[in-house]
Amino acid sequence: MPSSYGWRALALSLATLTPLVRANICATLAAAGIDVEYPLSLDYSTDLTKYWSTACGDLKPTCIAAPSSAAEMSQVIKQLHNVETLFAVKSGGHMPNNGFASIQDGLLVSTKNLDQVYYNSDDETAVIGPGLAWEEAQEGLAGTGRAVVGGRLGGVGIGGYMLGGGMSFLSTQYGWAANNVVNYEVVLANGTVVNANAKENTDLFASLKGGGNNFGVVTAYTMQTHPIGQVWGGNYVFTADKTPQVLTALRNFADNYPDDKAAIILTSEHGLVIDFWIMFLFYDGPEPPAGVFDEFTAIDHISTTKTWDTYYDLLKNNDQFILHGQRYTIATETTPVPNSTVGTAPLQEYYDHWFNVTDSVLEVTGVLGSIAFQPVPKTFSEKAKARGGVRDPIPFMFPQANDDRISSTSRPTPTIYSLSLTFPIHLPWTTARSIRPTRTSTKAWITWYRRTSTKAFFLTCTDRFS
Ligand SMILES: Cc1cc2nc3c(=O)[nH]c(=O)nc-3n(C[C@H](O)[C@H](O)[C@H](O)COP(=O)(O)OP(=O)(O)OC[C@H]3O[C@@H](n4cnc5c(N)ncnc54)[C@H](O)[C@@H]3O)c2cc1C
Repeated sequence: MPSSYGWRALALSLATLTPLVRANICATLAAAGIDVEYPLSLDYSTDLTKYWSTACGDLKPTCIAAPSSAAEMSQVIKQLHNVETLFAVKSGGHMPNNGFASIQDGLLVSTKNLDQVYYNSDDETAVIGPGLAWEEAQEGLAGTGRAVVGGRLGGVGIGGYMLGGGMSFLSTQYGWAANNVVNYEVVLANGTVVNANAKENTDLFASLKGGGNNFGVVTAYTMQTHPIGQVWGGNYVFTADKTPQVLTALRNFADNYPDDKAAIILTSEHGLVIDFWIMFLFYDGPEPPAGVFDEFTAIDHISTTKTWDTYYDLLKNNDQFILHGQRYTIATETTPVPNSTVGTAPLQEYYDHWFNVTDSVLEVTGVLGSIAFQPVPKTFSEKAKARGGVRDPIPFMFPQANDDRISSTSRPTPTIYSLSLTFPIHLPWTTARSIRPTRTSTKAWITWYRRTSTKAFFLTCTDRFS
């Protein structure tokens, strides 16, 4: 039996061994010429500020490795086989769940140096790196007259967005962002670098279209691009007393989708002194034709809409709605469009429920509830299917296909779903440091929400990565 001193020495050596083993991978990768950042360095600290939810940046990795090629990423993955450590892969950092693209005491693999945009005019494809934000990819295509199907707020990261499927302002024309990927360059778990496309590794190609980060680390996406010129868009702001009209216009818009070049997101914000709607409008052209947004335009509103010279300008402008320095938790529901006989009542119920739940937590200083209605019309899924579909991005739809409240125009295929609701709660870190959303607490919150929900609709997470 070791003496108590012996036990203490053993415990001490075990306790120090783990960080040493972790430190080794940092040193090994640095010695191999890979960019490695350590705590207390400026780059390390700056990288941890680049999360949408500051709760993720509170997790402190042992070091951050930022490979700049697929070969370097391969070395990182191979070296992970030699150590006992957790790791996480981060691209744009917009996933709010702690531990997904963030890690405490493990290796954080950043894709920030995988930041290429190569346009090939022969086949009109672009190779883009996962370390970029969508606006940077679009900026990289300046002068080509082409666009990539990507995020609606330009600052969102490419890496994680793409692996979740990706809803875009251009999705009613071209499907999910993932439908437009013609090749993934991927580092597999054994460190091998492979391509996945319609001819090579076709099962992996299918799996990556909505499959999340379970299949490897993507080091480059080759995307089909599409023509773009001047675009129109901006925001309408409605006061809360317009809610019934706004929801009616939303239902009608989603049901009778007027024009594939049109897109909207309708968000409502509710805090202690805040209560209004912000609507995002988009049209792929200099002006929307008469009739497209008329029902919304007819409601008293403040408008910031205008014609933008480039798609990049519009995406960049939308970044003003990416609130930094907040802690977020988020969940998504998917529900069919209620048919015209049922009308707006179910949407009003969702809204009321969200409003009341938000109301019940307003005593938390700085808390802000936000709900976003995001129509996914029939034409979206038709375009997605025509481009090969995606890996069951929201798998909980099928049981509702028999719901007679579903709009008949949205029923023909079982993959139709029409509105998803997101519920981020914004907690300024200064007042909410003790409220650190974790995977468990977020799950508990979602479970609670689900239990108290008055509707039997289905729930999925915005970011379905494991
Ligand atoms: C303000 C905001 C706006 C949004 N707008 C949209 C929108 O318009 N449309 C839409 O569909 N979604 C939207 N989203 C959701 C967004 O797509 C997801 O949060 C997505 O995960 C963000 O990608 P990221 O690279 O920033 O994520 P990260 O947080 O860096 O990563 C997310 C997940 O992907 C994994 N991952 C990242 N890169 C790689 C890689 N190269 N290889 C393997 N795994 C990887 C990470 O490990 C992590 O699990 C939005 C989110 C926010 C916060």
